[in-house]
Parts: sequence; C-alpha cells; structure tokens
Amino acid sequence: MSEFDAIFVGAGHNSLACAAHLAAKGWKTAVFERNETIGGAVQTREYTLPGFRHDFGAMNLSLFAGSAFHRKYANELNAKGLEFAPVAHCFASAFPDGRWFGVSNDLELTASRIAQFSATDAETWRRLVGLFPAEAEHLFRLLGSPISARSLAGTAWNLWRKKGMAGALDTGRLLLSSPRAWLEETFEAPHVRATLAAWGMHLDFAPDIAGGAVFPYLESMANQSFGMVLGKGGADTIIRAMAGMVTGAGGTIATGSEVAEITTAGGKATGVRLASGKTHTASRAVIANVAPGALVGKLLPGGSGDAGFDTAMRKFRHAPGTMMIHLALDDLPDWAAGAELRQFAYVHLAPSLDAMSRTYQQAMAGMLPDAPVLVVGQPTTIDPSRAPEGKHVLWVQVRVLPAEIAGDAAGKIAPAPWDAVKDAYAERALDIIESHAPGLRRKILGRAVFSPLDLERENPNLVGGDQVCGSHHLSQNFLFRPARGFANWSTPVAGLHLVGAATWPGGGTGAGSGYMLAQKLGGG
Ligand SMILES: Cc1cc2nc3c(=O)[nH]c(=O)nc-3n(C[C@H](O)[C@H](O)[C@H](O)COP(=O)(O)OP(=O)(O)OC[C@H]3O[C@@H](n4cnc5c(N)ncnc54)[C@H](O)[C@@H]3O)c2cc1C
Repeated sequence: MSEFDAIFVGAGHNSLACAAHLAAKGWKTAVFERNETIGGAVQTREYTLPGFRHDFGAMNLSLFAGSAFHRKYANELNAKGLEFAPVAHCFASAFPDGRWFGVSNDLELTASRIAQFSATDAETWRRLVGLFPAEAEHLFRLLGSPISARSLAGTAWNLWRKKGMAGALDTGRLLLSSPRAWLEETFEAPHVRATLAAWGMHLDFAPDIAGGAVFPYLESMANQSFGMVLGKGGADTIIRAMAGMVTGAGGTIATGSEVAEITTAGGKATGVRLASGKTHTASRAVIANVAPGALVGKLLPGGSGDAGFDTAMRKFRHAPGTMMIHLALDDLPDWAAGAELRQFAYVHLAPSLDAMSRTYQQAMAGMLPDAPVLVVGQPTTIDPSRAPEGKHVLWVQVRVLPAEIAGDAAGKIAPAPWDAVKDAYAERALDIIESHAPGLRRKILGRAVFSPLDLERENPNLVGGDQVCGSHHLSQNFLFRPARGFANWSTPVAGLHLVGAATWPGGGTGAGSGYMLAQKLGGG
C-alpha cells in the first residue's frame, strides 16, 4: 500500500496551493523540497544584516491576492497568518532628463501626472481605466482558466457576445501586439510609454516582442484600479500560510529532501526516490514543480516514454536572466527627480523603449548590457516592519542578463563566469541608481548580490537566472506552455503532472497551475 495519495517534488507556491487544496479534500499529501527553506522564488530572509528582511524573488503579491485560490481559501489563509500590505503608490519611472511619472491608485492623481506630459494621454488613460472592467472580465477569464481549444473558443464566444465582432477582434489584437505597437498607438508621450513598457521587461517582453502588450496593459490598469499588495513582513507570508494549511490538514512537508528520481512502473508514476536513497510511494499522483528540462533530463532517467514530449521538454526555451541586489539602507534613496518617488513600491530605471530593446538584444547576444533595466523595489516604504526602525531594505532587480557571458557591451568587463564578474556588474547597476539618487552608496549598511547563476543555485527552476522559468513568447504560451498537447499539466506518464511557472498560465505568484490542477484532480 502506498504511503501517500499525492507526492510533490519541490515546495514552490504552486505545489503548496495544490497540496493545500488536495489535503483539504482529504488526500494524504507529502511535499519534498531540496532546500532547507520552502517557497522557491517566494522567500524572505535576512540576507544582509540581522533585522533586515529581504524578499529573495517575488515581492509583488497582487497576483496571489487576486487569485482564485485566495478567493476560495482567504479565511483559512488568514487563520494561518496571511497578511498583506496594501500599496497606493504602485510604480514609477525616473528619467535621465530629471522628470518622473508614476501610477498611484488614485485616478485623478495619476491623470494629473500624465497631463504634465500630454493632456491627450491623460484623457486616454481615463478612458482606458473606464473600459478596464469590461476588458478585464475576458482577460482574467482567459488567464484564470485551464487552456484548451475548447476554452479558447468559449472565451472567443463570450467576447463576441459582449463586445461584438469588432470589439472581440480588438481584444485579440491586444493579445498579439508588442508593447511598442500598443504603446505607440495609444499614448503620445515617450515618458508614459516607457513607464508602462518596463512591465514587459519583468518577463521577456522587450518592446518589440509580439504578445507582450498585454502585460504592461494589465499591470498598469490593475494597479490603477486596485493598487498593489506586498506581504506584511515579507512575501513569504503566503508560503507560511499555505504550508500551515497543508500540515494543518495532516500533510507532510519535508525540507532538505531533494528528489533524485520519479519512480514509475508500467508507464505510471509510483513515487519518488530522494537523493538520500529513501523512497516514498504515491497511489494517485506525483506532481513535479520543476523546470521541464529537469523533469526529463534528471527525474525521469529513462525518459517519459514519449520521445516527442522529451524533446519538447529539453528544448523548452528559457528567458534571459536576472541579478538581484539586496541592500540594507540607512535611509531610502534621495531621488533627484522628486522626493515623491520615495513612496512608490517600484521605481523603474528604464529610460526609453529603444533603450529597453537594446538592452534585451545585448543580453540575447550573450553581452552584459551597458545599461541594464533596473527595477528598484522599496518595500519598507510600504511595510516598515521589514527593517529596524528608521532603516530600509532595497530590492534591486537587474534586467536582463545573459546566462553565459560572451562579452560586455560597455567593453569594460572581460568575459568570465558569473562568480568572477558579479560584483563588478553589481557596481554598474549601483552606478545607475546613484546617478538618479546621489548619495545612495553612503547609505548602504549591507549588501547581498545574487547573479543569474546564484539564482539557479538557490532554485534550479530559475535556469540561467530566468526568473519566470521559461520564455512567455507566443510560441511557448497559451496552448504551447510547456508544449503542445501538455498545457493541461499532464505528461505521457500516467499520474505524473507538471506544475509551476513553466506551465500554463505561467510565471508569477497567482498559484494558477497548482490550483487548477488541484481542482482537476480533487474536484472544485
Ligand atoms: C527575482 C525574482 C523576482 C520575482 N518577482 C515577482 C513578483 O514581484 N511578483 C510575482 O508575481 N512574481 C515574481 N516572480 C516570479 C514568481 O516568483 C515565480 O514565477 C513563482 O514563484 C514560481 O513558483 P513555482 O510554483 O513555479 O515554483 P518555484 O518558486 O520555482 O519553486 C520550486 C521549488 O522546487 C524546488 N525543487 C526543484 N527541483 C527539486 C527537486 N528535484 N527536489 C526537491 N525540490 C526541488 C526548488 O528548490 C524550489 O523551492 C519573481 C521571480 C524571481 C526569481
């Protein structure tokens, strides 16, 4: 007899959401995590100095707060300690010409800022925000449902019924557009366009990549309409709450337990073998929260039995990498463009669409970008509990970087493995912040730098530092994530399922794949 109904490989937030739902349905679940800390890309730790809590990866929990999983289990999660910190001033960009623009959840405030660049754009913004609820219904339905030809047809039908043929085609066109195409035909001010385009760079949607417009669109409209949320005390609030649900319902979570192999018999998954040699059996499901390459390259040494699937998993494309710089600060940066920037959760340093396109192209060619895009997170401006009184943490995401370094676009850093160049490259990023916020370096009390390689060492799903576990370009999204025929989290091995950022509906903290698979397996 098997020990468990379901075994999970890895304790990412998708595994935990899936395990929490199945455990609530009476399944006997066990989650095996290789690290000593659960949560994968969602962790909060004192990386610099005691008392300074840094989000390792995800900081913005809006996707989780708006997720179907959270809607269903808000009471249970709250009972296990989940707490959000709401954000009114969501994101901004500071520009080299000394100007800035930012989106707050107060419509008139944002519109008045846009009007300083273009009165027409301010009117456009008001109009788009007014139309957003009707548009969001369709987009959230699409992104929040299992994907299949049938579900796409349902979305199309619903769109046609509510918006007519022309309106439905407009939504379809938005889904296919590049950020630049949408931004240039919608707004006239370069500062407004660049501020919104920076959201594409959180994924691998540089301004000219088809299919990327929807991310700046959704992020800006959702932030305007609902604000943003961070985790109170750290993003790991969602992890601790979900883990509490799993163990509270009798489930097991084992850390320091790397899964070396998924065991099979007669084409069916039967359990796992840990790196320690210990084996565990599951009668109903083995659910792998891993990167596609690792599933077939490592966990199924004999392959899945379907050569086409194995090839697709091996060829799964990863997006360019990220460096994370965590700073413990004496005080927030003094932004030269305006003191108001201190109140924003994110300040982007991404001067123009052309600069973002160039940075992306440099990274794709293996070059260290001369001017990476920076996402400067200021969580303690919203949640002071993450640092000792009066002090701050800064969360700096350096986008986008090659996994392997062929050269330096600035011609200053000799190509070498990341361990040898990460400190020099972090200085380049800090120079950019310093140029916008003079005196930053004097405020630094402690720092921790994670190169793309370090990110992968911490979590093997972040292949080459790819923070969203797989490119989201059109050819690898929707019905093709992670591969045609397997967008429903199935694999050719009966009872073996793949969840996580590499699967539909992709990266982020929305627990989408975990919760949708859980409902498929255990009922709603
Ligand atoms: C730097 C960074 C910033 C981000 N910022 C945001 C943000 O602000 N907002 C947002 O919504 N999203 C953000 N994301 C993306 C988001 O955090 C991820 O897409 C999401 O957390 C991935 O969740 P997952 O369930 O796929 O699992 P993962 O987080 O990838 O976790 C998988 C777990 O499985 C474990 N594992 C892997 N292989 C094995 C094995 N063989 N045996 C045992 N355990 C194994 C890993 O150690 C890991 O703990 C960010 C990501 C990064 C890296």
